[in-house]
Amino acid sequence: MPDYDVIVIGAGCGGLTAGAVMSKQGRNVLVLEQSDKIGGCCSTYERGGYRFDVGATLLEIIVPYEIAFERLGTTLKDELELEPCDPVYNIIFPDGSRMTYPASIEEKAEIISRISPEDGKAWLEYARYIGDFMRTALRGFFLSPVNNMVDMTKIFLKDPHLLKFFPLFSKSFEEIMRGYFKNERVQDSLSYPGKFCGQPPALAPGIFAFLSYAEHEGTWFPKGGMIAVPEALQRCGERYGLEVRTGQQVDKVMVRDRRAEGVVLADGTEITAPVVVSNINAKVLYLEKIGEEHLPWLARYGVKSYRVSVSAPMINVGLDWRPPLDAHHTLITESMDKMNEYWFGDMRKGLLPEETFGLVCFPTFSDPSMAPEGHHVLNIVQSGPYHVKEIDWDRDKQAYGERQLERLSEKAIPGLADHVEVMDVLTPRDYERRLLTPEGAILGLDMDLPSSTVFRPAARSKSIKGLYLAGASTHPGGGLPSVIASGLIAADLVDKYE
Ligand SMILES: Cc1cc2nc3c(=O)[nH]c(=O)nc-3n(C[C@H](O)[C@H](O)[C@H](O)COP(=O)(O)OP(=O)(O)OC[C@H]3O[C@@H](n4cnc5c(N)ncnc54)[C@H](O)[C@@H]3O)c2cc1C
Repeated sequence: MPDYDVIVIGAGCGGLTAGAVMSKQGRNVLVLEQSDKIGGCCSTYERGGYRFDVGATLLEIIVPYEIAFERLGTTLKDELELEPCDPVYNIIFPDGSRMTYPASIEEKAEIISRISPEDGKAWLEYARYIGDFMRTALRGFFLSPVNNMVDMTKIFLKDPHLLKFFPLFSKSFEEIMRGYFKNERVQDSLSYPGKFCGQPPALAPGIFAFLSYAEHEGTWFPKGGMIAVPEALQRCGERYGLEVRTGQQVDKVMVRDRRAEGVVLADGTEITAPVVVSNINAKVLYLEKIGEEHLPWLARYGVKSYRVSVSAPMINVGLDWRPPLDAHHTLITESMDKMNEYWFGDMRKGLLPEETFGLVCFPTFSDPSMAPEGHHVLNIVQSGPYHVKEIDWDRDKQAYGERQLERLSEKAIPGLADHVEVMDVLTPRDYERRLLTPEGAILGLDMDLPSSTVFRPAARSKSIKGLYLAGASTHPGGGLPSVIASGLIAADLVDKYE
């Protein structure tokens, strides 16, 4: 008799969603997490009286969350105390000027029209098109397995309306945005999602254009920090018998005759189960935990050819003052040309960007309990390659953090550097060490077209029977709503095939 029906490796949101839903399906499920905390890239820790998030900074594209909690016999609103975020973001342009976008689509159109009336109209047209895409795709494409071309074709046959959105699959993010918007300032104000998916606008798939609209369907911050999301998933799963063990590192997946049979922990303990769901990076899973000897040559070649996604250094600061920001998110933006230039130039040479463009998240704007009374928290997220020539992430992280705070004080948030009580810098090396994610990848694998949909590692392994994938390395990819969708897909596949 195997010890469990299913073993899940990793307690990120993808693994916990899959684990909780499979428990509700009546399976005896064990989740093994190597760290002492659940949540992976969606977690929260305390330092000096401040609560800091580790990665993801708010909830948006709420449908997968709602479906997950419905599938667990409850509702998102019953399980999480959510504070709506409005305005959705402030933008600080390279010349220091600012702009604020409210959640309302119509009010945003008015703001854009003041800069360019033609783009104001284009925004409404774009919002209609992308809103329609989200309504169609979220319950179909986003929540369906795309293990192969047959799956992909079925999705389009089931809902031929999706064909209308073909340009989002065939064009780049930059082509889509420049197609709709003509004014450079408007383009700059809407161009950040390319960066969130870890690709320059010229290479990011057009489908990421939906991120420039998604916030207008709502964004929320959970009370107590982002760890509230994985905690709620664990709590709901435990109602149906889910077992989650932290501090348990999986060393190997046991495989016999190309069939998963359980796992071996770092201390040598063997735990058996006929089904293994992996929530860890797919390259690590196949090449280290399973081993090349168990893979057919084509799978070996395929897995090796993937590149891991970008990382994102995060500077968490506790402040003895309220920063002059008036939204949960502030984007220190750059033009698409500059982003492309950096990607194809300095980044390839292993240099950090000259300018600080990135995201400043202000959690105490939405939830004052994240800091002692009268104090505030900022999470500053930037793109930053793992391999950087000019600095050693371990040796120079304090100096890196201080330099970024000084730059931000000069360009965007005057006074910031003078009010820091606590600073904690999380570098790509820190993510790699703490979460065992290669190169600190925040989205599993690259999110370009050749690593998307049918080309991403399949949710139901094609090489190893009884092995399933949930999380950023499989369809629909990295980001919280996607990994929750992937957890639902994995649970459904296990239910169908095992
Ligand atoms: C700085 C940063 C900012 C981000 N911002 C956003 C955002 O604003 N919006 C958004 O949607 N997304 C954002 N993301 C991305 C998002 O957080 C991740 O894509 C998502 O949380 C990944 O979830 P996952 O289920 O794939 O697993 P992960 O969160 O990667 O968790 C995997 C878990 O597996 C564990 N593990 C690894 N190896 C083993 C092993 N051998 N044995 C046992 N356990 C193991 C790890 O410790 C980890 O807990 C951000 C991420 C970061 C880091």
